[in-house]
Amino acid sequence: MENLKIKPIITLVTFIILFTCGDADAAGAVGQKAPRLHITNWLTPDPPSSASLQGRVLVVEFWATWCTPCVKSIPHMVELTNKYADKGVLFIGISRDKSAGDVRTFLKQSDINYHIAMDTGISDNFSFRGIPTAFVIGSTGNLTWQGHPMNWNFETAIVAALEAAPPPFLDGVELGPFEDLRLRLSGGRDFLRAYRRLKIRARKQNSPDSKIATKIIETIDAKIQEQVKQADKLRETDPAEAFTLYRRIVKNFRGVETARSAVIAQDQLRKDEKVQKEFAAIKDMGKAEKLLTQCSACQTCTNFNPECKNCKRLNNMTLARVERILTNICNRHKDTKTANTARQRLTQLTEKTADTDTTSPAEKTKTQGQSE
Ligand SMILES: [Zn+2]
Repeated sequence: MENLKIKPIITLVTFIILFTCGDADAAGAVGQKAPRLHITNWLTPDPPSSASLQGRVLVVEFWATWCTPCVKSIPHMVELTNKYADKGVLFIGISRDKSAGDVRTFLKQSDINYHIAMDTGISDNFSFRGIPTAFVIGSTGNLTWQGHPMNWNFETAIVAALEAAPPPFLDGVELGPFEDLRLRLSGGRDFLRAYRRLKIRARKQNSPDSKIATKIIETIDAKIQEQVKQADKLRETDPAEAFTLYRRIVKNFRGVETARSAVIAQDQLRKDEKVQKEFAAIKDMGKAEKLLTQCSACQTCTNFNPECKNCKRLNNMTLARVERILTNICNRHKDTKTANTARQRLTQLTEKTADTDTTSPAEKTKTQGQSE
């Protein structure tokens, strides 16, 4: 008799666990400290040192070679790596395959350009339901995003994390006795005070540190000038992007003579019609992305995937609103870069997919990729 009573309880408990996992994902870790990444089994050459994982934006994706949606996401990961790796983002794919040999064979015929490692218990510390799941970790070590790598706000999350991170401004520059000023001299709120302190030290000609201080100031000035030049170059072809660069320079180095022209350019561009249009379009795109975060995943997917027809069907009301916003961007803000993106995303959302499921049942259980 007792046994008969226990069974439904176990079933109920299993049921609760199964269905609360997803919720825990959504509400849980994002915004909190990311789990420590202790990666030991790298499969790609020149792996990053564990010290180099600190203080920078990281993208960590859990995947496997047998997981079809994971493999389908690879070209997008490659594209994002091309776009953001040299801006300081480190992309790491952690394979949940059982055999490293399988992954090695897979890597030989794939164009993966980011780091790959085996899951040696790393995933135990991350809370997620299945793969593919990507995590964005900000430079302060906080988890800022988690979701399906095909989701559009994945890239937005990477950009936001990059913008919040101090630029790798003085990487490789010897600061000697001024090492403690490194972070402040890299730009931001405390930059000007640190910079002025250096200037005072540089003026004390009989002090032994004055030469070093002078050299550092010259390096900083040259680097700011380099950034201004880069923005100037963009001004004709892409004023909105130039505006963003000027704004970053002003934010980081306000008050310094070399940044003054950036302040002026920023003020001029703020009134530029093209820039205003682009930013209006970006604002609308933000609304569409926000709506997407409210979409839920279908039973096969672990996170909402805008390329999956079941996910689309499940969220058709929300997606109709997203479609309307995107169409509006295309019509009202034609000729903007964002309109191009909106057009691509419209295609992704409205793409006709066959009504019948083409995945074989065997494949289907595989693609579920449930990790637990
Ligand atoms: Zn789906």
